[in-house]
Amino acid sequence: MHLLVNANVFAPEPLGLQQVLVAGGRVVWMGAERPQLDAQLGVEVHDLDGRALVPGFVDAHTHLSGGGGETGYASRVPALALSQLTTAGVTTAVGLLGTDDTVRTTGELLVCARALRTLGLTTFCWTGGYHLPPATLTGSVRSDLVHVDLVIGVGEIAISDHRSSQPTFDEFVRLAGDAHVGGLMTGKAGVLHLHLGDGERGLGLVREAIAKTEIPARVYHPTHVNRRRALFEEALAIVPDGVTIDVTAFPPDDDADVVAADEAVARYLATDLPPERLTLSSDGGGCLPEFDAEGRAVGMGVGEPSELAATLARLLVRGIPLESALRPFTSNPADHLRLAGKGRIAVDGDADLVVLGANHAVTDVMALGRWMVRDGAPVVRGPFEHQPEGGAS
Ligand SMILES: [Zn+2]
Repeated sequence: MHLLVNANVFAPEPLGLQQVLVAGGRVVWMGAERPQLDAQLGVEVHDLDGRALVPGFVDAHTHLSGGGGETGYASRVPALALSQLTTAGVTTAVGLLGTDDTVRTTGELLVCARALRTLGLTTFCWTGGYHLPPATLTGSVRSDLVHVDLVIGVGEIAISDHRSSQPTFDEFVRLAGDAHVGGLMTGKAGVLHLHLGDGERGLGLVREAIAKTEIPARVYHPTHVNRRRALFEEALAIVPDGVTIDVTAFPPDDDADVVAADEAVARYLATDLPPERLTLSSDGGGCLPEFDAEGRAVGMGVGEPSELAATLARLLVRGIPLESALRPFTSNPADHLRLAGKGRIAVDGDADLVVLGANHAVTDVMALGRWMVRDGAPVVRGPFEHQPEGGAS
């Protein structure tokens, strides 16, 4: 049991100074006055001294089993380590496959997700990958949704990208329909999480699907919408139809056509669009190649969960109120992906908690009632994290 005292709670709405009691992985009590607890209970008390306590981040786009592989065999990115997520404030991660859904499999992704669960994190998965027919565990998207507990939807299916399967309209809406029906049958989100490439076609398929089919607009969840300025405008324009859009926390880039994640969130919040229809994800463990006009890779970066924490700090430096800045990191993805108990600080909710320190940095992270990060350093690590990369095997 833990008692966090003098916590300035943003749930994400501001609740002021609260005392937060955690037991059995959940928040079991909150109140303005410090409770009297029997010493025999052995409750660990942590005084936050007025620092902000916010919900753990829900990262809807992580390459848990590693991504990349787009610039040759040596470019495969290793699986994400537990502390890469926890030190970024991420307590719920949704894993996926990207370009490489040939060597990397849904089964391997699920095992990586379960491994992180064993270590105390909450994880889910998208079934599929960039390509059609989608990579699955059981043979179909609907069947994966119905039979695999951790699968909440299908993604990241690539559109408007030279690396995609160039899905036709019929293929595209069939997949959206399968995601939707799988969601209906299970109560899961049943979302089609879409990788948007640099192509001029942008969100054309999504607009056409909304106009021509009965599938609800909430099923489409396009990501990387801030990779080009024109695409971001298209994304903002499609939100009133009922689409929730996902901004990627790309590492800082000198490409003027990329809308930085903090700029994208600030732009969104300045509109009168529904505040709940924006989510933010890291693309952690994914590779971020740059291609020339011939489709040759001319550079490569790697997505980092830490960019989420950095983006939140930049939003606060911009003067965005913490309660507004937090939503795309916490309650919005939890609600859109129907992750009960996640994305909020509430009694009976999961004890996924982040403490913000000086310069809005993530200093302490609790996942399901267990401290993962203290004073900026991970206190729980995966079993192989201590080994240098490429070290002795
Ligand atoms: Zn992607």
